[in-house]
Amino acid sequence: MRIEHLFAGGVRQVRDHPQLVYTAVLAAAIVASFSYVAISFSGIAKDAQDQLVNVRIGSLQDAFAPLSAEVWDKPDVLRTYMRHLQELNPTIVDFDIVAQSPAAATAQWVVIFSSDPKREEQIVFRQDLLLNLAKSDPSHSFTIETSEGGVRYFYTARAVIGRDGAFRGIALTKQTLSAADQEIGTSLDHATITLVIIVLFLMLLFFRHARIIDYAVLYRKLREVDTLKDDFISMASHELRAPLTAIRGYAEMLGDQSLDTAARTQAIQRIDLSAKELDSLVADMLDVSRIEQGRMKIEPVRLDTKQALTEVCDTWEMRAKQKELTLTRELQENLAIMVDPDRFRQIAINLISNAVKYTNKGGITVRTYTENHEFVLRVSDTGIGMTEDERQKLFAKFYRAAGADVRKEQGTGLGLWITKELIEKMGGRVSVESIKGVGSHFIVRFTLAEAA
Ligand code: ADP
Repeated sequence: MRIEHLFAGGVRQVRDHPQLVYTAVLAAAIVASFSYVAISFSGIAKDAQDQLVNVRIGSLQDAFAPLSAEVWDKPDVLRTYMRHLQELNPTIVDFDIVAQSPAAATAQWVVIFSSDPKREEQIVFRQDLLLNLAKSDPSHSFTIETSEGGVRYFYTARAVIGRDGAFRGIALTKQTLSAADQEIGTSLDHATITLVIIVLFLMLLFFRHARIIDYAVLYRKLREVDTLKDDFISMASHELRAPLTAIRGYAEMLGDQSLDTAARTQAIQRIDLSAKELDSLVADMLDVSRIEQGRMKIEPVRLDTKQALTEVCDTWEMRAKQKELTLTRELQENLAIMVDPDRFRQIAINLISNAVKYTNKGGITVRTYTENHEFVLRVSDTGIGMTEDERQKLFAKFYRAAGADVRKEQGTGLGLWITKELIEKMGGRVSVESIKGVGSHFIVRFTLAEAA
């Protein structure tokens, strides 16, 4: 359970910070290359060691063989000589001179002289091939490698030929490289420890990196919040000031006793309009805070979309007419979805009011239909449209396109953010198709409600 938890945490970290994958790949590459270098280096060192030892023992025997022939008749001198050579070369375990026993039937190889007298007269087992080879070619020394009980041994043989040219025996050495092997093993152990330390450092680096990324993400978020704050202040001061100035102006006007009834009525209407603007601004801000704090209440019920949209269109038809725009409805019958009716209306109002706001000639079409068993609401206009860059930023909080045709309209840049949040909270999706100067289509999709 704990491991699963850790694993899930790790997957989350990597998903949130894909940069970590690069660090991990880099760490793995360093470990792999270090291991490769260490292993191949120890292999090379082993080979070099073997070659060196073989060359050394070869030359030792090359020098020893003719010399031993000279003192063949003085066994003690020969033995002392062999002992001395063995002392000088600690890798030599046994140093013998062997010869074939006269009994032709057995033809076994027997130790005749040895640095260790106890070995004399012992039979030499399993070296027949090497000894016969050395006997057949007296001008060379021959080496074979064997393994006894997990330890590597090198047997080297060279024929001893007397002055008269007669074959006397074979100088046979048994060497071990266990000390060198051990040293290489120790080096490998050291390399492994170093590798473990490197891996630990890399892991440390890895986690530090993860934390640095966290800080970077936090820093970016803080900057975003800071920009949002600036946007909010500039939006709020502008959007609050315009209706407030209007209210103050008309209120002052109302104080003028000489004002006729028509002018009074107009002033009161303007005050009412500005108050409504302020009201909708405050409502938007409240919605933002409700959504952000997860306090937005959504109570889905089965809603007949045609009825809900007809009401919204009725309201906005007037405003469209004032701008000499047409508002066409193509609302399919019997399309029901499971949504919060107030929030659905709010979505429709936002999209239709934007379409009216950002269209100067032509008209708006509100269409509903089904596609791939989904309900689709399409609000199209022949308005100012937007660039691809603007389209991508459209749903960001406080975003408003920079063009004068947008800035001349009142707006907070919150409507579409709220719209998108509401749609997604009710399980729907929203997308936009638009061409600058031609018009825009806002497309909202919801799952159709089951038949009643
Ligand atoms: P507001 O309308 O208050 O500025 P919105 O969040 O509703 O804020 O819209 C954000 C921005 O998206 C607008 O400022 C405008 O630039 C762009 N926009 C929205 N609807 C349309 C539309 N129908 N046609 C062209 N641009 C639009």
